[in-house]
Amino acid sequence: MTEEQGGLERYDRQLRIEGWDQENLGRARVVVVGVGATGCEISKNLALMGVGKLILVDNDVIELSNLSRQMLFLDEDIGKPKAIVAADRLRRMNPLIEVEPYFEDVRNLGESIFEGADVIVSCLDNWPVRRWLNSLAVELDKPLVDVAMEGFYANLQVVIPKKTACLECHGEDLIPKETQLAECTLRRRRPEDLVQDLKQAGIEISQKIAEKLFEHDIKTIYDLKYAHEGVLMRLDKKTLEVVRRIREKLKPKLPALQSVAAMISGLASTEIVKILHGNKLGEPIKGLLVYDGLAGQFTIVELERSSECFVCGDLVEEGLTITVKPDETILDLKRRIAETFSIPDPEILYREWRLQDDKRISELGVKEGDTLYITTSRRFMPFQLKVQFHKEEVTTP
Ligand SMILES: [Zn+2]
Repeated sequence: MTEEQGGLERYDRQLRIEGWDQENLGRARVVVVGVGATGCEISKNLALMGVGKLILVDNDVIELSNLSRQMLFLDEDIGKPKAIVAADRLRRMNPLIEVEPYFEDVRNLGESIFEGADVIVSCLDNWPVRRWLNSLAVELDKPLVDVAMEGFYANLQVVIPKKTACLECHGEDLIPKETQLAECTLRRRRPEDLVQDLKQAGIEISQKIAEKLFEHDIKTIYDLKYAHEGVLMRLDKKTLEVVRRIREKLKPKLPALQSVAAMISGLASTEIVKILHGNKLGEPIKGLLVYDGLAGQFTIVELERSSECFVCGDLVEEGLTITVKPDETILDLKRRIAETFSIPDPEILYREWRLQDDKRISELGVKEGDTLYITTSRRFMPFQLKVQFHKEEVTTP
């Protein structure tokens, strides 16, 4: 039997669906970021349906507590990288497809992995990386399907860049406050600041450990929570143990249930198939779909795209405007940017210089209408801010 004949028989039942285009599906390329409960389920669904190429990204290894829901993994896989094991299982489930795994923090991967993608799927368990991926999807103009779950609740959002709301359009209402502003501590810090911040969170560490963390650029609670795995691997054993213990306290693991993962992943996979068919099968859902497993209810929260969104809004390309005062320091300006855009770690670039915190606007030769570029770990690409000088009110006698 040729591969084509095998394919015809393998996919026989779905080929009976009106409008179904298996050939198109076979040419499609989907990137799944996060291979936990929902990542396993969605990549399994896409593999079985014959999506031609799956790219899996996850920087975690398999633990015993994953096995109650991450359905591609077995006891014998404990300690192995999730992406690699999942790729191997999926290839066996459907030998007609190609699977490319990356055991890596998604933020370290090159753009080229996403460029050929037809859909990006976010199956992440944290907001900072989800926001980063949302911004990447918008920048590269790729549809993003985002799923999240906690206990009996789950949600699903389809982002078609510049057409539907992105994850950031209603960030103020939908992104938990804790991750928005609590981390807005800026960079000019000393190890004792970190000791103090942790103390307030009920966690004690020694000054010596804090100094060691600073050597690796881990300076805030935000850094502790979300530092790349690669950075952690460079820490000595004792410091790494302390970091893992702190992380467990700062980011307690959320309750999760296989049946809920399967439910939301099934819905997400159907949306992905619809997108891959170019809407010939139906339009993807608009807004945020929320599943309440306890009540057995689905709700769709309508979300309009915000023209003022700092990721996908119409003003982004022209550059948003920021009003500055000549005597304002860069640190003050960073604080304002951090609060305005809910980003924890803005850096300001002006004519290829990275601006120093203690400099004042007036010292830098910045003129009205100039562009500042803002980089942050929340964004894939820097965003632009156009400078407007604060007009002093002139009082006439
Ligand atoms: Zn947006």
